[in-house]
Amino acid sequence: MLAPQDPDNRLDRSNTPVNCLFCRHPKPDYWFSKRSKHNGRPYPLFTCSNCGGAFVFPVPSEQELHEFYSGTQSALEVGLRDSDPLHQYDQAIQEEVEFPNSTVDAKRIAENLKRLAPGMKALDVGSGYGFFSKALMEAGFSVDAIELGEASRKIHARMTGFEPKAEPFNADFARRNAGLYDAVLLSQVLEHLPMDADPIRSLNVLLRKGGICAIAIPHFRSFLSILQGKNDMFIVPPEHVNFFTVKGLNAAFASRGFQTMKCETVSKFDYRKFKKKFGPLSPMPSLALKGFLGVSSLMDKGMFVNGYFRKL
Ligand SMILES: [Zn+2]
Repeated sequence: MLAPQDPDNRLDRSNTPVNCLFCRHPKPDYWFSKRSKHNGRPYPLFTCSNCGGAFVFPVPSEQELHEFYSGTQSALEVGLRDSDPLHQYDQAIQEEVEFPNSTVDAKRIAENLKRLAPGMKALDVGSGYGFFSKALMEAGFSVDAIELGEASRKIHARMTGFEPKAEPFNADFARRNAGLYDAVLLSQVLEHLPMDADPIRSLNVLLRKGGICAIAIPHFRSFLSILQGKNDMFIVPPEHVNFFTVKGLNAAFASRGFQTMKCETVSKFDYRKFKKKFGPLSPMPSLALKGFLGVSSLMDKGMFVNGYFRKL
């Protein structure tokens, strides 16, 4: 499926990463190139034989990603067709009522953070609609939030009473806020961040000593991910550029001054939404899916990884 011509020379096979972006194991292998539905460009993916993770390489530039997220193309914002923030808020709440996804997740993560963190000042990075900020506030945290999507910020303001700052998460932001936080949360964010800018190092800078970083990401090599292979629904560059296994996530944090406190996989699946976006998942009958995903989580092959890492 590669284009015969590639104006950017992004498919040059000599343009290969030296080490795995997560565990730093040498010589990742070229896997395949995934063409973006948004901009039509092919994005080469590499896999690591040590941690089993995969990533887009070359890593898209911060500028390219900033433009992408400041626009209305990201998955979260594409669903928000209506331009009236009140309507958008109602829509987000209605979806949550129909399939209580974020609220259940957010409550569990906020409680774990409260148990593990040395204090009550928290940062919600890429805060989306605000389900997680709200849960952190309800757990007693004083919460700051940053979010690039304008519609998301408006919904967040309605849900929590405060609007997140429109700031990108990068080394500059970390320097300006060094050591401020007891807890930093990234829910469905780390898979988006360019690893060559070393976002995990930035997380370390933001936290005070003993502070906790909570991560929720799609689980690359969950049973569902293995079943879907190259059609893994989370392989959507340039929106997603990192595909972590549990081993890769642990290695990435260990090599950047963190100790793993807890790492588990969970499954949640809105089949209606999935079918609307990707079509029916054959040969898996939808009825069998729930049981399958339950068993997957028990065997640590669930769809999402929730990790908690302490700054040493
Ligand atoms: Zn690796």
